[in-house]
Amino acid sequence: MTSISPVARDADSALDPSPERIREMGAQAVDWMAAYHEAVRDLPIAPQASAAALREVLAEPLPAEGRDFTELLAVFRDVVVPGSRHNGHPRFFGYVSAPGTAVAAVADLLASALNANLPAWRSAPAPVELEHVAIDWIKEALGCDPGAGGLFTSGGSMANFTALAAARHRHCGAEVAAHGAAAHPAPLRVYTSTETHHSIHKAAALLGIGRANVREIPVDAGFRMDVDALVRAIEEDRAAGAEPFCVVANAGTVVTGAVDPLADIAAVARRYGLWMHVDACYGGFARLAPSARPLFDGLAEADSISLDPHKWLYLPADCGCLIYRDPEAARAAFTLDADYTRVTQTDPAEAFAFWDYGPDLSRRFRALKVWMTLAHAGSRAVGDAIEGNLDCARHLAELVDASADFEMLAPPGLSIFCFRYLPPSARTGSRSAADEEAIDRLNERIMVALQRAGSSYLSNASVNGRFALRGCVLNYRTTRRDMEILLDDVRRAADEVTAEAP
Ligand SMILES: *Cc1c(COP(=O)(O)O)cnc(C)c1O
Repeated sequence: MTSISPVARDADSALDPSPERIREMGAQAVDWMAAYHEAVRDLPIAPQASAAALREVLAEPLPAEGRDFTELLAVFRDVVVPGSRHNGHPRFFGYVSAPGTAVAAVADLLASALNANLPAWRSAPAPVELEHVAIDWIKEALGCDPGAGGLFTSGGSMANFTALAAARHRHCGAEVAAHGAAAHPAPLRVYTSTETHHSIHKAAALLGIGRANVREIPVDAGFRMDVDALVRAIEEDRAAGAEPFCVVANAGTVVTGAVDPLADIAAVARRYGLWMHVDACYGGFARLAPSARPLFDGLAEADSISLDPHKWLYLPADCGCLIYRDPEAARAAFTLDADYTRVTQTDPAEAFAFWDYGPDLSRRFRALKVWMTLAHAGSRAVGDAIEGNLDCARHLAELVDASADFEMLAPPGLSIFCFRYLPPSARTGSRSAADEEAIDRLNERIMVALQRAGSSYLSNASVNGRFALRGCVLNYRTTRRDMEILLDDVRRAADEVTAEAP
């Protein structure tokens, strides 16, 4: 056997640095990270930045010559960090936003260092096996059957898009794949509640199904899909010659955290032969919390489930996930013949390719941060943290109910709460439409003042047409005490805006 003699490396360079230089860069970066994770509890949450000011410091022509890493880290530390919203702050309640975990940040560094690319098993054998393991753990967390399978995606929007593509293909088959949606003789119909995330409408538009063919089903007082209305809509559409093919249920809506009656919707899907997709991007991992578990009965019957590990698994962006009950049913939608996708392995596990189950070819090694976070923390600690988040939302609702100056606008759903401030004049007696509009405007100004002050952060939602201060607890750092501080911060913001001229 001839041995290959090692080729001496050229001198240390920016593109191919020496081990010492790599250690130096890494040490500086990790020192920053350790300090940041400690400091994030006390930083002002949102930056006071303007696009113009940021551009003035950051914009420059493409540099022909390189600069020292230390100088670049200084730009990161002095401009990028202060110009960022700190999503890991315990009172950042805006949108549906995770704090990140330290172990996942380290995993991202390792994944990039290994530079694994995961289109198929042969491209990255152990990383692909690790993705299967991480997907299996998520299936277990959701109570899915062992035969289910899935993959990580860039996010929930892409997971929803991919699920609808699989559903459309099962219904329409090769004709539409070859000739486009116009080749299908009848209009298709997707059903979902009025509370559904807009990524479903976007997917319908992009897939040629059409936004107008997403039928929004009304909800009950708890913002859960009215299943009788769903059945009526399906019957109506069938009678009119349209083709119902898919129902999208929510397991945690973004406005109020509502979980649709999944088992009832699954029964309707079975009866009418519809693909059932569940958008569990926000809520899915709450099944790990004992108090929320019964809400997810029926989830495992879905044909597909979208989840966002970059939400309630607390991971840094990006990481979405799609689970198929029967992966083979999805395969036909994505599989393609090309020279570079020809697989020569005969063992089916080694012939496996993620490109058969979604639109991507090159794929990041997202599984490493999922696997490392779950393996390092354990599912019990994650479930406890989620349970703590649910408790914080309930505690906030209790505090609101017990105070005259606030009212809830919806019952708390999972860890989402929608409420508003009431000025003294609105605390007793009846309110006119003009009063309601004044309260809306006041609360909008309170939200802006609260965000500016930097100690707590809420976003907004429209609940039954009223402006709501909306929060979502999605952080292992948040405690009951933070909910009390939040209400004090809102009161302070209310005092501030009422002192100003209206
Ligand atoms: C966040 C979210 C989405 C979109 O997911 P991205 O990861 O932001 O693309 C879709 N549906 C629900 C219910 C969500 O919470």
